[in-house]
Amino acid sequence: MKYIAGIDLGGTNIKTVIVNTDFKVVVSKSVPTPFQRPKEETFSVINHHVENLLQEGSIERKDLLGIGFGIPGLTDSRTNVAYNIPFLGWTNTNMAEPIRQYFGVPVFAENDGNVNALGEMHFGAGRGFEDILLITLGTGLGCGIITGGKLLHGASRVAAEAGHMVIEAGGDQCVCGKRGCFESCCSGTALTRYARRFAIEFSETSLMKETNGNLFAITGEMIQRGYDDGDLVCRKVIEVFSEKLSVGLVNLIDLFNPGIVIISGGVARLGDRVLTPTRRLVEASLMHPVQKCDIVQGQLDSNAGVMGACSLVAEGLNIPIK
Ligand SMILES: [Zn+2]
Repeated sequence: MKYIAGIDLGGTNIKTVIVNTDFKVVVSKSVPTPFQRPKEETFSVINHHVENLLQEGSIERKDLLGIGFGIPGLTDSRTNVAYNIPFLGWTNTNMAEPIRQYFGVPVFAENDGNVNALGEMHFGAGRGFEDILLITLGTGLGCGIITGGKLLHGASRVAAEAGHMVIEAGGDQCVCGKRGCFESCCSGTALTRYARRFAIEFSETSLMKETNGNLFAITGEMIQRGYDDGDLVCRKVIEVFSEKLSVGLVNLIDLFNPGIVIISGGVARLGDRVLTPTRRLVEASLMHPVQKCDIVQGQLDSNAGVMGACSLVAEGLNIPIK
């Protein structure tokens, strides 16, 4: 039996799976992402993490066919160069070479939003669709666009940065320097920012009690509990969040005419609390019913990235995905 490794580099964790050539997960594990360490040290952590996983699965190195790598930043999948990885402070870094040298197998790097979209297309909610819009709502907002069964890459391979299209002129400050980006309006970070803002206005909220007044300690789970208990602030947070999400989605649906919209990432765990109002608002804003498509939660949860990374290897080495 031969094997493929998929790595998802996140702001908190580096998640890795090893699958067999039937794409069944053999072993899976996460380790904390080293915070602002030298590149060599970070790559050494990644290589040892994969090495440990091979040992755990009793897999010999010679049976590893290749490694796929999801990168949280602008990445050219032809050259494997990441132009920027903001939270690591890295620019113009070949993400594949240090891993290829260590394991002696082909390594394929790709933007994480794209990798998530591939994961859901091959193994999750996007199966059977050739035109897919995927939005990941985590700390930031990731996007992957599949059109005619292929990722949309663009002229310099950095397309689908939907997180930084402006959906609200003069809106909240984004990490990219602009205001009112889709990401600054719709992400896990935005969700808790809205909760803080509304909790200050209406202090009769469960969020005050749950955080002992430290509103920076608000989590998505607290908002979810408050929403389910009918807390007005939590209801308002979800309402505003869904409105902004629907604006971004309508823009993207107008542009790309997807057959399905998949929402993944931590915020997607709010499920129909967010998706039901979002579907209603999106539908009301379409120009014609022919544009209508399902808006669903991803099926792979936090495995979309690693499974998509494995599919990069399948594509690169012509291994069929059944
Ligand atoms: Zn931005």
